Amino acid sequence: MKCTLCERHCHIAAGQAGACGMITSDGSSIQERYPDRYLAAVETAIESMPMVHYHPRGQFLQVCTVGCNFTCRGCVSGILTDHLTAIQGTFQTMTPEAVVDKAIALGCLGVMFCFNEPTVSYFTFRRLAEMAKRQGLRVGCSTNGYMTEAALDGLIPLLDFVNMGLKGACDETYHACGVASIAPVLRNLARLVDCGVYVEISAIFRRHGETELLQAAEQVAALSADIPFQVMRFIPFGDAPEEMEPSVRQAEAVCSRVRQHLRHVYLFNTPGTDALNSRCPACGETIMRRGFFGPMCANLFDYRPDARCDCGYQLPIVGEIHDTPANESGYFGGYRTINALSMIRSILEVIGVTDKTRTDAVISHVLATDLIKTLHNRLNRIEAYFDTVDEFAAMTGREARAKAFRHYVGDRVAAIQAKVGDLPKPPVYCTLGHPRIAMFVDKMESCLIEAPAGS
Ligand code: SF4
Repeated sequence: MKCTLCERHCHIAAGQAGACGMITSDGSSIQERYPDRYLAAVETAIESMPMVHYHPRGQFLQVCTVGCNFTCRGCVSGILTDHLTAIQGTFQTMTPEAVVDKAIALGCLGVMFCFNEPTVSYFTFRRLAEMAKRQGLRVGCSTNGYMTEAALDGLIPLLDFVNMGLKGACDETYHACGVASIAPVLRNLARLVDCGVYVEISAIFRRHGETELLQAAEQVAALSADIPFQVMRFIPFGDAPEEMEPSVRQAEAVCSRVRQHLRHVYLFNTPGTDALNSRCPACGETIMRRGFFGPMCANLFDYRPDARCDCGYQLPIVGEIHDTPANESGYFGGYRTINALSMIRSILEVIGVTDKTRTDAVISHVLATDLIKTLHNRLNRIEAYFDTVDEFAAMTGREARAKAFRHYVGDRVAAIQAKVGDLPKPPVYCTLGHPRIAMFVDKMESCLIEAPAGS
C-alpha cells in the first residue's frame, strides 16, 4: 500500500511499517500503529512550542506521540525515535474526549501537538483536533511541513496556529534529513498562510549556515515580512558534532542580517541573548522581554501595555497577553519528558551501559513506574541523584561502576569541605553559558557547589 500522508510516499507491505515507523498496512489500507496513544499530555505556556506572537503566556495542553518522517542529525527529539520500542509500551491511551476534557479541566486555551511530527500520528491528531474545535478550543501544531497536499487540506479547517520548522532553504539540506526536496514544505507554508492559519517559522541555524538562513528568510518574507521568524541556534544533540554549533555572537550577527528581510526575528537556544526580545521595528525599543527557557523554549518576562511601543507602533500579537506566568517546573519547559529520557541515557552511559536493549529496559521501567514525573527533582538533589544511579545500576548489573561514581563525586566534595573548614560559606551565584545566565537554585550543578563551600 502507498501511504499518502507525507511526500515520502512509502510503499508499505502488509504487516510492515513505513519510514516513520508509525504507519502500517494490513495489505488493503494504511493504519496508525498506535492510535490515540500519547507519550505526554501536559499543560504548558505556548512559548514552549514555541510561539511568540500568539496568545503570549497562554496555557495550552501540549501533546506528543513519537516518531518522525525526517531523520535530521542532532534533533532534540531524536531520543523519542531512538527508543521507540521502549517508549511505546508505556504510551497513555487517551480518547480525543479525554484529552479535550483534560485541557478544559486545566483551563487551557487549546491543544498543541509538538515535540514530534504530527503527520506520523495524523489520524489521532485529526480526531483530537475535531473534538477540540467542537469544544471551542484552539488547535495548533509544530510540523516540518512535509505533508501531502491532501493531508494538509484535511487539517487546515481545524488548525488555528502552526509553527513550521525549516531545516534550511535547499534540497541538499533536506536530503540530509532523509527526504527529497524542500518544495512541498514551501508549498504547504504558502497554503497555510493563504488559508489564514496563523504561522510562525522556526529555522535552524548551523555554523557557516548564514547564506542558507538568509535564503530561508527571503522565502518567508516573500509571503509576509510580518511572519515571526525564530532562529534556532543549532545545539548538537545525539551524535551531531560540536563543530555544527554556531557561537552566540555568530547567531546574533545573522539575526541582524535576517532583520533586513523580516520585521520580527528571535534567537532561541541562546542563554543571555537580547535577541529573544521583541523590538520595535520603527524605533528599536524593547516591547516584550523574554529569556531562554531550555531548548526551543522561551519565557516571557514582561511587556509594554498591549505590546504597543511608546512611539505608537503596535506589535502584531494575535489574542490576549496572559498575565499569569505558566506554572512550569525547572527551565526545560515543555521538553521535560524528552530531557528526562536524555538524562536517563546519560546516567546509563556514565555507568557503562551503552547497548540499546538495556537502555530500553531502564526507560521502560522509568515510564511504567511513573518515576518520570519525579525524575527532575530526584536528579537535582545529590543523595537522590545517586540513589537513582544505584537503582539504574541494579537493573543493569553495573553496581560497581555506580559505587565508583558515587565515591568519585563524594571524594571531591569531601576534599573541598576539608579545605573550606570553618570558613564562612559565601552565597553562591551559579551561571551557565556565555553570555552568562543564572541557573535555578535547585539544579544539581548549584547543589554540588553549595554542598562543600556555599550557601
Ligand atoms: S507518514 Fe510515514 S509511512 Fe507515511 S509516507 Fe510519511 S514516512 Fe512514509
